[in-house]
Amino acid sequence: MGGLVIAPKARILHGHEWVYGTEVRAVFGNPQPGDVVALKDQRDRFLGSAIYNPRSQIVARRFSRRKQLLDADFFRRRIRQALELRERRLPGEELMRLVWSESDGLPGLIVDRYRDVLVMQTLTLAMHLHEGEIVGVLCELLHPACIMARNDAAVLEAEGMERETHIAFGSMPGPFEVTGRGLKFVADLCHGQKTGLYLDQLDNYGAVASFADGRRVLDCFCNQGGFALACAKAGATDVTATDISGTAVQAVQRNAELNKVQLHTVEANAFDLLKVESEKVRGGAESKWDFIILDPPSFTRNRKALGGALRGYKEIHLRAMQMLPVGGLLSTFCCSHHVSRELFLQVIAEAAVDAHCTLRMVAEHGQRPDHPVLLNMPETSYLRGFSFELVQGR
Ligand code: SAH
Repeated sequence: MGGLVIAPKARILHGHEWVYGTEVRAVFGNPQPGDVVALKDQRDRFLGSAIYNPRSQIVARRFSRRKQLLDADFFRRRIRQALELRERRLPGEELMRLVWSESDGLPGLIVDRYRDVLVMQTLTLAMHLHEGEIVGVLCELLHPACIMARNDAAVLEAEGMERETHIAFGSMPGPFEVTGRGLKFVADLCHGQKTGLYLDQLDNYGAVASFADGRRVLDCFCNQGGFALACAKAGATDVTATDISGTAVQAVQRNAELNKVQLHTVEANAFDLLKVESEKVRGGAESKWDFIILDPPSFTRNRKALGGALRGYKEIHLRAMQMLPVGGLLSTFCCSHHVSRELFLQVIAEAAVDAHCTLRMVAEHGQRPDHPVLLNMPETSYLRGFSFELVQGR
């Protein structure tokens, strides 16, 4: 087996699982892209087995601290462990992420379950090359009707791979109905964003909706409408869901019918909508909403873009606070691991200063347990959320 000699001070010597190109001292044994390599320190001590891709910035991702090959036995063991974790934490759920990359010891492999359809992503070259074994193990353990290999994420290009989607097993049903935490959704896996639904948010719909009884709710960045639907079911008197994507807004209408609730939908850029509506309230108009939910996409994919992203986050919070009456509620989420919990709170606090209001935290939210966090890999902790009550007005 070929391998890499790792430079002193590399992050993998401090518990992380990744090796960047700049952290490699030497390459031995001529490993090929996608191979398993041995990692060693300068004194020839073995650090573990990793998958190798010299085309990526992250040239090696450790998946075991022992000598380990990627074969069907290995995939069976790791996938079984991932399934056991979900059975313990989310028993009987038909909608969930079954395998989440490094957090399940399978770097670059993501498997989502939508009832009996699995959506698989292989985002690293090694996982991509082992698709056949992975599909075999998934069929053996889960007996799915269909496995869709959906490899259309932008990160594939960073790994030097092409984006493509194909059916790896069975045949794809048309749009079908799925239920998660009592909410019904139409799963349209060929056309939805990401891998269909935002599974990491499923448990937060109910948590946020527990504040919605009797409220007039605005769900900004609603996508398939999870927050809006949950609020409507929980007794909100009026719910508006808005997204920039026309297909998302149409999906919310279909989902509202399925759940037998009434919603207003608006196709709009949230920045424009929040600006217009906050200016009306500042001009003396009545607040239309007393509960605003903000769940924007990650405004930053990298650290360089952080400044602009923070300005964006601040702006939507400021506008939302300006639109709310005293006693109003704000639930807000940030899904970028570049924005720490503290930084996110700081941005919200700065917006509150500019809006001349005081916020009382009523709940903190995070990613669902099917997206487990590794302490040694901060990148695995990316979803932060808070619910606040606006306690003093202007
Ligand atoms: N709350 C959703 C997930 C939101 S994902 C859920 O739980 O399912 C972010 C959404 O923001 C996407 O649906 C995307 O279409 C939308 N979006 C991105 N930029 C936007 C903008 N400027 N204005 C409004 N929506 C936007």
